[in-house]
Amino acid sequence: MTGTTPDTDTLRQAVEPARASYEELKAKGRKLDLTRGKPCVEQLDLSETMLALPGVGEHTSPDAGDLRNYGGAPKGLLALREMFSPLLQIPVEQLVARDNSSLSLMHQCLVTSFFHAPSGAPSWQGQTVKFLAPSPGYDRHFTASLDLGIELVTVPMGELGPDMDVVESLVKDDPSIKGIWCVPKYSNPTGLTYSDEVVQRLAAMPTAAEDFRIYWDNAYAIHHLRSVEDELADILVACAEAGHPDRAFVFASTSKVSLAGAGVAFFGSSPANVEWFLKHDGMRSIGPDKLNHQRHIAFFKDTEGVLAHMAKHRDILEPKFDAVLRHLEKGLGDLGIARWTDPNGGYFVSLDVVPGTAKRVVALAKEAGVALTPRVRPSPAVRTRTTRTSASPPPSPPWTSSRRRWRCSPRPSSSPPPSSCWTTGLLGS
Ligand code: PMP
Repeated sequence: MTGTTPDTDTLRQAVEPARASYEELKAKGRKLDLTRGKPCVEQLDLSETMLALPGVGEHTSPDAGDLRNYGGAPKGLLALREMFSPLLQIPVEQLVARDNSSLSLMHQCLVTSFFHAPSGAPSWQGQTVKFLAPSPGYDRHFTASLDLGIELVTVPMGELGPDMDVVESLVKDDPSIKGIWCVPKYSNPTGLTYSDEVVQRLAAMPTAAEDFRIYWDNAYAIHHLRSVEDELADILVACAEAGHPDRAFVFASTSKVSLAGAGVAFFGSSPANVEWFLKHDGMRSIGPDKLNHQRHIAFFKDTEGVLAHMAKHRDILEPKFDAVLRHLEKGLGDLGIARWTDPNGGYFVSLDVVPGTAKRVVALAKEAGVALTPRVRPSPAVRTRTTRTSASPPPSPPWTSSRRRWRCSPRPSSSPPPSSCWTTGLLGS
């Protein structure tokens, strides 16, 4: 918290200077698109030499032989899986490396379940299928689900992860709830990391659906921005220890490590789920792009090489986050009308504003040439319902947070609690 509690006079006095600096910004004719976490050119340049790899004649590997041909290494090249195994908390044997997109692997797992559900459960065809959607969350998870006819059940997102009282009460009785979407680390879009307790509860909770799965999209597993790095509990270990070894599907990719959309994607899970995945994936493709695997092996060399590369991303991104936070503090610090995240990693700064003003904030920013992401939540209009059991207490309003990573300007005592405020993704580099 910064500054003193403002009064209406303070806000009134702030209006004119704010208007003037807004007009100044508009006159600059900026064109900034912060809607997506797209790496900037300097970040892409870090991987430029990859374009020449693996290089003429560099087309063999010990486990797959001639990489120019079909066959070998059904889980992907071993050296690549060994490199990423410790970073993704997935044992090498349970880690599968595939093509360029983790989102496509998530989609594939959903689609496959409509024909061959995991754990030998009845296929999802003809059934009502629901997924829990912690909100705010990643819009592509939600749109992919809706596109397949999967209903989304909104669950409030707290600052330590999804509201577990709500999650537990929903999954225990409803066998049509087949999964939950999770971005557990430096979550998209708030930047928070799930607490150990949330991970344990997700792993241990009783579920009515025998084929219930946690879709654990660990997209930002190693994307640190600060010297303080968030630690995420190991979901596969937690599930195994809780007696639900098959509960989690883990996804990740190098889209924001090497090249966006031209990296390597990973699937990790229990041995039984890996077998399920490989069996059905084998119907879709003869095998992954092993030359791209080799390219990544040649470029990073080992796990330490990946981490050294991520430190270079941090060098580029950290000052940008600092600049955004500096300006938020300067412009809003003492006004009590907004709060924002100061994440230790990931790609987003989330801004909460006074209820009823978020759309206007996004529109004004657009007019000034700055495109922001409006709050992403499963649309109530499209087969979605917000759920809260009467037994569970409502989540604390965001302003009452004591968590270090939230920076807020104090709220004027006269203003309404922003329990329904919008979140705006502010920085996508
Ligand atoms: N998951 C999350 C949470 C993301 O933010 C993104 C976009 N970077 C993706 C998945 C897409 O990743 P991929 O390029 O591997 O499909």
